[in-house]
Amino acid sequence: TAAHLAAIEKARSLNAFVLETPEIATAMAKASDARIAKGEGGPLEGIPLAIKDLFCTKGVRTTACSHILDNFVPTYESTVTSQLWRDGAVMLGKTNNDEFAMGSSNETSYFGPVQSPWRRKGGDLGSNTPLVPGGSSGGSAAAVAAQLCLGATATDTGGSIRQPAAFTGTVGIKPTYGRCSRWGIVAFASSLDQAGPMAKTVRDAAIMLRSMAGPDAKDTTCADIAVPDYEAAVGKSVKGLRIGIPKEYRLDGMPAEIEKIWQQGCDWLKAAGAELVDVSLPHTKYALPAYYIVAPAEASSNLARYDGVRYGLRVSGRDITDMYEQTRAAGFGGEVRRRVMIGTYVLSAGYYDAYYLRAQKVRTLIKRDFEQCFEQGIHAMLTPATPSASFGIGEKGGADPVEMYLNDVFTVTVNMAGLPGIAVPAGSDAQGLPLGLQLIGRPFDEETLFSLGSVIE
Ligand code: GLN
Repeated sequence: TAAHLAAIEKARSLNAFVLETPEIATAMAKASDARIAKGEGGPLEGIPLAIKDLFCTKGVRTTACSHILDNFVPTYESTVTSQLWRDGAVMLGKTNNDEFAMGSSNETSYFGPVQSPWRRKGGDLGSNTPLVPGGSSGGSAAAVAAQLCLGATATDTGGSIRQPAAFTGTVGIKPTYGRCSRWGIVAFASSLDQAGPMAKTVRDAAIMLRSMAGPDAKDTTCADIAVPDYEAAVGKSVKGLRIGIPKEYRLDGMPAEIEKIWQQGCDWLKAAGAELVDVSLPHTKYALPAYYIVAPAEASSNLARYDGVRYGLRVSGRDITDMYEQTRAAGFGGEVRRRVMIGTYVLSAGYYDAYYLRAQKVRTLIKRDFEQCFEQGIHAMLTPATPSASFGIGEKGGADPVEMYLNDVFTVTVNMAGLPGIAVPAGSDAQGLPLGLQLIGRPFDEETLFSLGSVIE
């Protein structure tokens, strides 16, 4: 813990943490030492972790990196983090993220962008252009990649665990929808949001997920299914597993380097005894547009609670309506306002059937595509995690938000279908930047992803 706290202090220029909690960390580590001395340690005893600022932490400021939650101090602890503390982990601080987890580069945070610890080797843009760590869990990804913690919590609504993992050469898993409790996590799109770990290795991610997951009566969408020993799946033989290679993920104009690591991943799995099968997920091309209707719709509803009365920021006005308007106008950043407006539009009378209902139908078709493959004996799918490597801060999405949304093309399908997905580092591009592969599994079969992931990493 002491070594990590010192490393965090030295790496402040990355802006990975929005709150450092050295006193809490030191007290937790001491308590941990005492338990270890008595031979009582839990599975994560003394392990220093970073917590995405989307997880409510009792008595510790939680802002979702939004101005509207200024100085909000929860009186409760999220189920996921309380399970980590139950198992002996130590909290180092809260990590930066895109505001309300809306973004793919960590540039929408009220606290400013996070820098990836990676730099391009040579290349046109020079070696010193600061790069994005991906998003929305950019602070967690940068903290793990820069060795500022042994692991971090993150959340994934459309790729926010897997895309930053791919950009920073770390491992991130979004478990099956319902595997981890959402209680006490700031809501973005409730039917898509899932918590998961980011770590340096597949084994570390497996150990962390076991503590984070499990039934919780406080979240009715949390599944009442026992959590297996994920660590036992790491390194387990993958012989005879049938791995689907979905042809729709081969995009026109995809960089040759992405094609290359995908092929490399296929070769590694084949060499380990898995069988590769060409499959089709025909509705893939509708996933991104449908996601960018469903997610903003749910966000506009979830964010209605930020009214200046119950949490954080309040800007006074002439009357209560004016106070709501002033608070929301001052408190939400540009990307959040865009999502609230899109979401309100697609849910409004007269447009609901044409947009929201249609997107929900598309969602069912996307889910069925996967179900059909799994029914035909496919155990998991292998795809690229992202359509490109990391990019420079300020380089994408300025004039055209859709340019940023395209980052999520390989990850949103998994949230729409509620399936587990893991991103594992698989190689690097010509400039030495990490590239990741994604494995998508059957519902509640994260174990197979850990087995396959350990072949690739
Ligand atoms: N980049 C996607 C979005 O902006 C996903 C974010 C997330 O998974 N939280 O909605």
